[in-house]
Amino acid sequence: MQEPFKAILVSRDEDKKQSVAVADLTLAELMEGDVVVEVEATTVNYKDGLAITGKGPVIRRWPMIPGIDAAGTVVSSEGDAFKAGDKVLLNGFGVGETHLGAYARYARLKSDWLIARPDGMSAMETMAVGTAGYTAMLSLMALERHGITPDSGPILVTGANGGVGTVAISLLSKRGYSVVASTGRLGEADFLKSLGASEVIDRAELSEPGKPLGKERWAGAIDAVGSHTLANALAMTQYGGAVAACGLAQGMDLPSSVAPFILRGVSLLGIDSVMAPKPLRIEAWKRLSAELERDKLESLTTTIGFDGIIDAAHAILEGKIRGRVVVDMMR
Ligand code: NDP
Repeated sequence: MQEPFKAILVSRDEDKKQSVAVADLTLAELMEGDVVVEVEATTVNYKDGLAITGKGPVIRRWPMIPGIDAAGTVVSSEGDAFKAGDKVLLNGFGVGETHLGAYARYARLKSDWLIARPDGMSAMETMAVGTAGYTAMLSLMALERHGITPDSGPILVTGANGGVGTVAISLLSKRGYSVVASTGRLGEADFLKSLGASEVIDRAELSEPGKPLGKERWAGAIDAVGSHTLANALAMTQYGGAVAACGLAQGMDLPSSVAPFILRGVSLLGIDSVMAPKPLRIEAWKRLSAELERDKLESLTTTIGFDGIIDAAHAILEGKIRGRVVVDMMR
């Protein structure tokens, strides 16, 4: 292990003013845990953007190393679950929020939070997927548990050019679903079609206050946007359909009515990746490894180094990132 090592550290002064810096840390400064992992790859999710910019109350322990996702190799372990040399993966569990996170060469973590890296995926590929892509899979699995199949009808994907959106489109189209992609970046329509969208619509169709019920346009939806967009997605879901709600890019509010639920039997399915139980995580990653086409994953991924993390955090909140960002920590 090489000490000191570089980490991104977010601090807060007495006036609660937040600042971000690259710091040299030692292992002794990391928090408690039974496994030390050398982080080989990480990523920049929307939540990491909120943490680094301070635009959302993600960080709840100061100072904090952000970074909610990590892939790497175990360098030391006190328990039996993992041993030195094991290839592991972490998504969520408060890492980068309440526990020092992935934007450092080393992370000390709890073994309960880790899963073995799925067969057939490199550290970089798992982080190209990251929490955003794993959440897209959790959303697809929720729709399927509801009984939705490709024969049920099209599936709406909102925030289509984002991390959740691009992976959701790729996964749905591979399973044979017809996908309606909603985006504010219509110039990227050809890209979204290359991922498998059959139709691309302007997000302005969904982002303004709408009627309690509209024309039935889709059998289900994966919504990364919230607010009026989620309300309109529900209002236009066909009888018996379901909407998997996983994000808040437009807003945390839900200005809806009960009409879709009581008049059309529509279901709203909540998706949480952070505390999702281990069997569900393992199943989601197994399916991502088997079903996500690697050429599509590559086409929706931009690779950066440790030095690019802070800029990417700002860019993701400005809606400037297309697809996913993977961070090569070995660069
Ligand atoms: P991205 O920033 O990559 O994607 C979000 C997309 O939403 C943007 O690319 C844009 O798509 C669209 N968008 C942005 N701002 C607005 C707006 N004001 N109105 C309408 N659409 C907008 O983020 P991620 O894909 O990583 O995450 C998406 C959401 O999901 C976030 O809110 C994140 O916090 C949440 N999330 C939740 C998880 C959970 O466990 N429930 C896990 C992972 C993410 P376009 O340009 O195509 O319009």
